[in-house]
Amino acid sequence: MRILWTGVAALALTMPAAAQSLGDQVQQQMPSLMTIYKDLHANPELSFMEVRSAGILAAEARKLGFDVTEKVGGTGVVAVMKNGPGPVVLVRADMDGLPVTEQTGLPGASKVRVTTKEGVETGVMHACGHDTHMTSWIGTARLMAANKDKWSGTLVMIGQPAEERGAGARMMLEDGLYTRFPKPQYALAFHDAAQFPAGAIGYTPGYALANVDSVDILVKGVGGHGAYPQATKDPIVLASRIVTALQTLVSREISPLDSAVVTVGSFHAGAKHNIIPDEARLQLTVRSYTDEVRNHLLDGIARVAKGEAIAAGLPDDKLPVVSVEKDEFTPSTFNTPDFTEDMAAFLTTRFGDKRVIKMPPVMGGEDFGRFSRDDKDIKSLIIWVGGVPQAELDAAKKEGRTLPSLHSPFWAPDAPAVISTATEALTSMAIKLMPKG
Ligand SMILES: [Zn+2]
Ligand SMILES: [Zn+2]
Repeated sequence: MRILWTGVAALALTMPAAAQSLGDQVQQQMPSLMTIYKDLHANPELSFMEVRSAGILAAEARKLGFDVTEKVGGTGVVAVMKNGPGPVVLVRADMDGLPVTEQTGLPGASKVRVTTKEGVETGVMHACGHDTHMTSWIGTARLMAANKDKWSGTLVMIGQPAEERGAGARMMLEDGLYTRFPKPQYALAFHDAAQFPAGAIGYTPGYALANVDSVDILVKGVGGHGAYPQATKDPIVLASRIVTALQTLVSREISPLDSAVVTVGSFHAGAKHNIIPDEARLQLTVRSYTDEVRNHLLDGIARVAKGEAIAAGLPDDKLPVVSVEKDEFTPSTFNTPDFTEDMAAFLTTRFGDKRVIKMPPVMGGEDFGRFSRDDKDIKSLIIWVGGVPQAELDAAKKEGRTLPSLHSPFWAPDAPAVISTATEALTSMAIKLMPKG
């Protein structure tokens, strides 16, 4: 079978583009796609500021004959190609980089520095690999345009802002993604994956990524001299009790068969040895899959904070203030199970069963789930595409070394493997979903 394919591939070089296999067409695009990738990688933009990146996607799609609208939900791009009767398929790439100073030491590393709106000077890096997403989006757009004779339907390709802030998908939907443009029956995306072999495809039927909430707790107290604690209400002791009591939400109140995380990632209070401050501040990340567990955790955090403050003798006007960052809520990502299994079977016929691997869900977040959250008729799938060469994975395992994760300043995916695999996977799935005739 393998020998036969090599023969077909060699033959394909002498054939016109449309008659070539999809894999060969992807390989032909790779030099040009890698030029685009290097440019995007060296010029990352933070969430809500993806102006240059969006411009590159929009210009490419326009050249290919898509009907392109810019500034949808901030810097979002919507590119529509109507190609006869049939279903509507949405393909999404996110565009934002992160406030991370790149330390890969590679040629072409990002040197971009900015001052954030909080006034912090920072490097900017595509540490989550959204540059591979945008490049594959362009590859997919090119291949879909070049193979118009092979599919019938409407392709809606979107460049989404601010995924890292959990805001971009919501902003595009609120700006009329499904009213101003054709509403999809299918939504597709991919994410590059660390700790996963380069060129492998991971899929997770059902819940794949978590609900993510950011919660702030302002713990009030009564400050005073450290030598006279009896005259104070110490907010550091109270906040410490709250942190400890919060641990019982997951361990004692949520079923062991449900997934949940409450992490206190930040605890700030005080300025000097002998002063009891009058407040402490906590920052939490709260994760779950179902709405039910999410609501229980959020209600529980408010209840625990209030209860501990009452136990510490704080009056009503000094109870903790618990705020949930509504704008940064990322809903869980749910891959439609039967659709996911169908697409995985299809990808297996194309890439082989060694490259298509079922993956367990993770508690990371991704706002792609929003595109199907309010309409169960939209079948949705986000796949992982591995970015670590197998030899590197094997060496790390042997040496007991941990490999950089997504968001690490050292994350350097095998970009050609990610981009070629993702482009072929997204294009072949989109064509499969919009069969001709
Ligand atoms: Zn990320
Ligand atoms: Zn990401």
